[in-house]
Amino acid sequence: LSDAAGTLYETDVLIIGAGAGGLFAALSAKRNGPPGTRVILLDTATVGRAGHTVFSNAGTIVAMPDDDLEAVVQEIVVGNDGIADQYLVHDVLFESFDRVRDLEELGVEVLKEKNGGYARSATRGLDQTRKIFPMGGGLEMAWKLRQGLEALGVTFLNRFFVTGLMKAGGDRVVGAVGVSARTGAFAAIRARVTIVATNSVTFRPGFARDITGTGTLLAYEAGATLRNAEFSYARPGTPNFYFEGITDAVQDGAHWTNQHGERFMLQYEPEWGDEADVPRVSRAMALEHQKHNDPLYLDMSGIPESTRAGYMENKVPWMALFYKKLGEEARTNMFGRTPYYPMNQMTKMGVRTDRACRSDIPGLLVAGLAQAGCANHFAGFHLTMANGTGWIAGRTAVEELESTPVPKLDRTEIASFQAELNATVDASAAESSDQLLRKVQTVMLACDVALWKSAKRLQDALVVIRELAAEAETLRAPHAHEYVRLVETKAMITAAQIVLEASLFRTESRLAHLREDYDFRDDDDWLAWVDVTQNDGRPRLSKTAIPTPLCDVRATTASPIKRVVKGAL
Ligand SMILES: Cc1cc2nc3c(=O)[nH]c(=O)nc-3n(C[C@H](O)[C@H](O)[C@H](O)COP(=O)(O)OP(=O)(O)OC[C@H]3O[C@@H](n4cnc5c(N)ncnc54)[C@H](O)[C@@H]3O)c2cc1C
Repeated sequence: LSDAAGTLYETDVLIIGAGAGGLFAALSAKRNGPPGTRVILLDTATVGRAGHTVFSNAGTIVAMPDDDLEAVVQEIVVGNDGIADQYLVHDVLFESFDRVRDLEELGVEVLKEKNGGYARSATRGLDQTRKIFPMGGGLEMAWKLRQGLEALGVTFLNRFFVTGLMKAGGDRVVGAVGVSARTGAFAAIRARVTIVATNSVTFRPGFARDITGTGTLLAYEAGATLRNAEFSYARPGTPNFYFEGITDAVQDGAHWTNQHGERFMLQYEPEWGDEADVPRVSRAMALEHQKHNDPLYLDMSGIPESTRAGYMENKVPWMALFYKKLGEEARTNMFGRTPYYPMNQMTKMGVRTDRACRSDIPGLLVAGLAQAGCANHFAGFHLTMANGTGWIAGRTAVEELESTPVPKLDRTEIASFQAELNATVDASAAESSDQLLRKVQTVMLACDVALWKSAKRLQDALVVIRELAAEAETLRAPHAHEYVRLVETKAMITAAQIVLEASLFRTESRLAHLREDYDFRDDDDWLAWVDVTQNDGRPRLSKTAIPTPLCDVRATTASPIKRVVKGAL
């Protein structure tokens, strides 16, 4: 590109997003590719300090060589109520111990027992499946991966925000364009293969990190198919402090109560009561909200004094620091009657791929939680899938290089992306994306839209979101930071429309997709994915039957099959 038009980077493999999915994709491309394979890994933040990954505890479900792999696959697929790519779940678990070895080779210490074996623990909702714990959590893991990638010669582009995928007038993705998130300088990256690893979309509910995955929407705009938009990661949350120990607390004597002191869970989940899985607790909370019985509390006052200290400790440094800073206040909050809300932390909307992580669009692969491998990741399967699909996508990418020449670019296409940037940045404009975001959140985080859905409420929400889409088009950004925020907010609005339409489409209840007007699971009609493609600028929805080559997933009982295991997070 000319100086005026910005910078042009060249690479064989481009990876967008440097969380676990992107980091493992880069490692895999370097290790599986021929010497000299050029890999660019970029992120809006700093590589090694980016994404949900660095905030995570990094508890990771692993199938060890001696484990019963088929039983673990079965448990995960059934725990997804069938909404899973069975082959991909199998492949990722099959290689999961190799990913642990990768981490150890790069210097990540994994928690061990006194006898030298890996310390493993159960996870909520699963029985046979076990997690391992990289010491120092995601922060340490991501940094060690970064150092390993540096040594392998991966090029990092830090603080680079991608705003479009290039197709040069053809069917194939040939790279990406974007801006420096600091200076706003425009650049294009020509790539033979591109991997999107930007996580799924959040509506910024205050979930640890102020980011939202935009790559799924970029893939959608480039022609890829989205799926699992109607599902979300739903759980109770409190604004008072970050807490991951709900299951332990309940088993140690905590109860869910409403403002009248009633233990409401028994009414909605007679079998499981307070020990029901978090989406079911969220559903009950939404119903209590409908009855005006809130505020709702996780009453931890019954937890014996002798076990309380354990709740204030954490092996992940930032979480430990958080509790330390809050001091006595955290203790008072935690063991008093803490108000909780049913929260939609993230959508599960990802890009449809095949078993090798190829999207429907040639040249475009997808890894991490941006990939739609399953709709329920439990506590610990997020990173299994992110690491595993990262590795698979990196390996597929270098295989594709053999048959992929250096693509031609289309300067008119690049100019139109740049014109969009120039038209949106206006130094005299006010910063307005936060107000717009607030309006989006008011609709999309409301528990009777996000968690407890009905046709009427979904349709009403769609009307508002369409109005907000129109409003977004009128907004301008005074500088690069605000430009990124505005593009992210627009992506959330597009995502919101897709989430609402997919939620209307699926006329049953399953996982965290809970319809008041279809409050039952319907395997005859809905053992299927809702797939969404863009058609004339609008979402087009269709149903794809889910193949079940490895596990039978039809519900055997009317009530949800959920087990809560002592010691689970
Ligand atoms: C507090 C917390 C605790 C957790 N604990 C666990 C746990 O113990 N076990 C577990 O399995 N999971 C856990 N999770 C979930 C897990 O961390 C995530 O699901 C996983 O890390 C997702 O990895 P990813 O690579 O898909 O996405 P991310 O790690 O979020 O990375 C995506 C990256 O894409 C970048 N990006 C987005 N859009 C663009 C763009 N347009 N241009 C450039 N870059 C872009 C973002 O900046 C981001 O860095 C936890 C999450 C949190 C927040």
